[in-house]
Amino acid sequence: MSNKNQQYRARNNFLSNANPSRSSSKGNFLLPNAAQKFGGRAGGAGGRSSAVPPLFGLPPYIWMTAGGTTLALGYVYFSYLEEVPLTHRKRWIATSPQLEKQLGDQEYRNLLRQFQGKILPPSHPASRTVERVGSRIAASALQFAKEQNVQHMIRSRANSNQTQVPPFTYTVVRSEQANAFVLPGNHVFVMTGLFRYVRDEDELASVLGHETAHNVARHAGEKMSGSAVVNLLARLSLLFDPSGVALTLMLPAAALFRELPHSRTQETEADQIGVHLAASACYDPRASKRVFAAMKQGADTGGKQQQPPEFLSTHPSHESRISNFDKWIPDAMRLFESDGGERCRRVRRDMALARQHAARGGGRSPPPTASNSTSGPDYGSPW
Ligand SMILES: [Zn+2]
Repeated sequence: MSNKNQQYRARNNFLSNANPSRSSSKGNFLLPNAAQKFGGRAGGAGGRSSAVPPLFGLPPYIWMTAGGTTLALGYVYFSYLEEVPLTHRKRWIATSPQLEKQLGDQEYRNLLRQFQGKILPPSHPASRTVERVGSRIAASALQFAKEQNVQHMIRSRANSNQTQVPPFTYTVVRSEQANAFVLPGNHVFVMTGLFRYVRDEDELASVLGHETAHNVARHAGEKMSGSAVVNLLARLSLLFDPSGVALTLMLPAAALFRELPHSRTQETEADQIGVHLAASACYDPRASKRVFAAMKQGADTGGKQQQPPEFLSTHPSHESRISNFDKWIPDAMRLFESDGGERCRRVRRDMALARQHAARGGGRSPPPTASNSTSGPDYGSPW
């Protein structure tokens, strides 16, 4: 059990993968400044190469080597600097979206094998609901990417912006864990224990918005880049194999992700972007606060019989998280109520029709299992 906890926690950590940024792989918009900054330093000393004087008593070959190394490191740093959309936080990403996707796809296949027999079929009401809500959030993320010029999610063509986002997959797993996570490559996993705290589509949208935001912000790539060893291996392997295949062989994705530390900054960022995505998709952004308040209560009263929500355990403190939503919800409500509220009234009527349609033609819940006793996790349809 504790091993499982560690696994989920680790994935949730890694989860914070995502990505968006403005100059996805190169960040060249920052290069001129960087070049000026470092070029100025080098120029001050380098212009007299014919008769280079000692500096602080050091022979020229030492300080010139140190200066050159600093210049090279600075160039690399600024070359891979990116900005997170919406929050405008600058961070360093050395991995490519393609590499992140390869690693995510690899781990996705591993997890499908690991969860074999526990994955709800696509016809299951829970699967349908997650897919339906997730698809609306994904569409909202694509729109967001275009508005914010998130390069890794859009591709400029001669006459149009063609999306190149890998299609989202949604996998619902029978589990007592109250958790959800996302892998690079847009693979979203939802554990049925989450439905103890998520009781309608608005609330589910807040969780899926958070997970989608991790990928929009390329948090996984950022974490991987933060690991010196991983980055060194990645850069070296990519010299010989730009496709990244060699790296995936050298570093099993699961081990890689488990080693990555949790980042509170990324989780907070995913909350903020997630609320935006949910509101843009016409899900009530106030639901996010309800979900996390319910999880906090569950964590406070859980005791040993009921494990605290895994989704929260690797994230910022409940109190700071809930108070953060108070800062973001006003902006999100402006989105939700744009066009005098008419836009979302219309969309939400469509949502209700889709729910009714799914309920009429939906699959049947699986028979209760022996472990699904009284107040256990909801193994059947959500809600
Ligand atoms: Zn997260």
